[in-house]
Amino acid sequence: MLEVTDLLVRYGAVQVVHGISFEVKAGEVVALIGANGAGKTTTLAAISGLVRARGAVRLEGRDILGRQPHQIVRAGIVQVPEGRAVLARMSVEENLRLGSRDGVAEAYARFPVLRDRRAMPAGNLSGGEQQMLAIARALLARPRLLLLDEPSLGLAPKVVAAVFGVLAELKASGVTMLLVEQNAARALRLADRAYVLELGRIVISGRAGDLLGDERVARAYLGA
Ligand code: ATP
Repeated sequence: MLEVTDLLVRYGAVQVVHGISFEVKAGEVVALIGANGAGKTTTLAAISGLVRARGAVRLEGRDILGRQPHQIVRAGIVQVPEGRAVLARMSVEENLRLGSRDGVAEAYARFPVLRDRRAMPAGNLSGGEQQMLAIARALLARPRLLLLDEPSLGLAPKVVAAVFGVLAELKASGVTMLLVEQNAARALRLADRAYVLELGRIVISGRAGDLLGDERVARAYLGA
C-alpha cells in the first residue's frame, strides 16, 4: 500500500531523516518507534506532504512525494496529528463534519461517547475523548491509509488503554495504519510489524512480536 524509499528530510542545514526505507502492506498496522527527536513526526509529515523531502513515497504504486497535502488526503492518506488538533470552540459534530458531511451517524455508532457529547465544544472533551474525535474525523475522510502521530501522548494510562482498544477494533475491521509512538510496548502489542528509528535512521525492523522480545528494544524502549 505504502512504499517509502530513501526518504531524506532536512530542516535548513540540518538533516533529520537520513534516507530511510520502509513499507506498509494493505491491512497491516506498522509502528514507527523511537525516542524523542528520532524523526518519527518528520517522517509522517513528509508522507503527508507537510514538509519537503527527497526520495520516493508511493501509495499503491503512484509516487505522491511533492504533492500538496490536500492532494495527498484525496489520494487516500489521512493523518491524525499529534496533540489531536480538534477545533476547540467548534462542537463535536462540527469537527466531524470537517472530515466529511456523510457518515457522521456511522462515526457515532463506532464512538457512542461522541454522540452523547455532539453539541459540546470539542475543547471541553477530555483528552481521551478528543483523541477519539480526532480519529473519528480522520476516518470520515475514508482513508486508504491512516497515519497516527502519538495517539497516547499526554493521556492517563486507563485512557491510553481505551484509545488502543479503539485502534485494535479498527485493525480488526481491516484499516491500514502507520502508527508513530513513544509508548513502544503498546505500539508493538498492536502492530504487525515495526521499525525502530534512531537519529533519523532505521536501526531495527521486524515483526512486532519479535521486537517485543528483542533485548536491544527492551533495554532502550521498554524500560526493561
Ligand atoms: P517527537 O516524539 O518529539 O515528535 P520525533 O521522533 O517525532 O520526536 P521529530 O519531531 O521528527 O522527532 O524531530 C526530528 C528532529 O528534527 C529533532 O532533532 C527536532 O529537533 C528537529 N526538528 C523538528 N522539527 C523541526 C523544524 N521545524 N525545524 C528544525 N528542526 C526541527
